[in-house]
Amino acid sequence: MDLIPLFISIRILDIIDILLVALLLYQIYVLIKGTVAINIFMGIFSLYIFWLIVKALNMELLSSILGQIIGVGVIALIIVFQQEIRRFLLLIGSRYFSKNRFSIERLFRIKTEKYDSPVNIEAIVKASRNLSEQKVGALIVITKESNLKLYAETGDTINAETSSRLIENIFFKNSPLHDGAMIIQNNLIYAVRCVLPLSENPDLPASYGLRHRAAIGISEITDALVVVVSEETGRISFVKNGDIDLNITPAELREALEDNLLSS
Ligand code: ATP
Ligand code: MG
Repeated sequence: MDLIPLFISIRILDIIDILLVALLLYQIYVLIKGTVAINIFMGIFSLYIFWLIVKALNMELLSSILGQIIGVGVIALIIVFQQEIRRFLLLIGSRYFSKNRFSIERLFRIKTEKYDSPVNIEAIVKASRNLSEQKVGALIVITKESNLKLYAETGDTINAETSSRLIENIFFKNSPLHDGAMIIQNNLIYAVRCVLPLSENPDLPASYGLRHRAAIGISEITDALVVVVSEETGRISFVKNGDIDLNITPAELREALEDNLLSS
């Protein structure tokens, strides 16, 4: 039969092809995991597999009907997955390309350079501790590689040197700048009063308010790190890649920031 030559003629490229498809499917899965989109995706995926089988068995009528549905289905997919596709493209754009993974500078970066972080971690930890003790709400976004200019523009640019006192001062309730998010870039408080996109993850507990949803939202579409101090409970949380670590101590916050800022 035909099967034997088929197996013998597998080329390296075919293996790469299969691996790439597997990787792509995995990325899509990771992206839509936990959203309602996963059910739609599984439905369409099964339909597609069914169509392939029907076609292979030469069942003309059924395969032409399914073919039509799948042809239109692509457009339906784009409409249904509009949000996910947007997030996926944003993710590729901001997370993969801006990292300069292959830059020569990165390749030859000397080890000792790793330890002088441009971000003033100490100031952020100290401010978070004090704000938490006084139950003052705060939302601090720390820029890594992704460009946050778009979000900075929704607030006021101040470009002031980071210090714990300034951070605390800004978030104090009577400060005209306390609302919204602060964006820290390098060692500067780049912008304050910024409006961040809210997470649309339906699995988030209903108890999460807007501050926490905004923190998760920005971390889903960029590689930024976010520190949240709750106004209601005084709890400190650390958010990264859409995952939130609720109620951590200042020491744990320092560790998390150091892990994420000093080693990349
Ligand atoms: P907390 O535990 O501090 O109460 P929370 O998660 O319950 O936080 P809210 O009580 O809704 O959230 O917090 C409201 C505050 O969050 C607003 O005053 C505002 O400063 C901030 N905030 C709300 N939405 C956004 C947003 N889209 N971008 C940035 N900041 C936001
Ligand atoms: Mg609240």
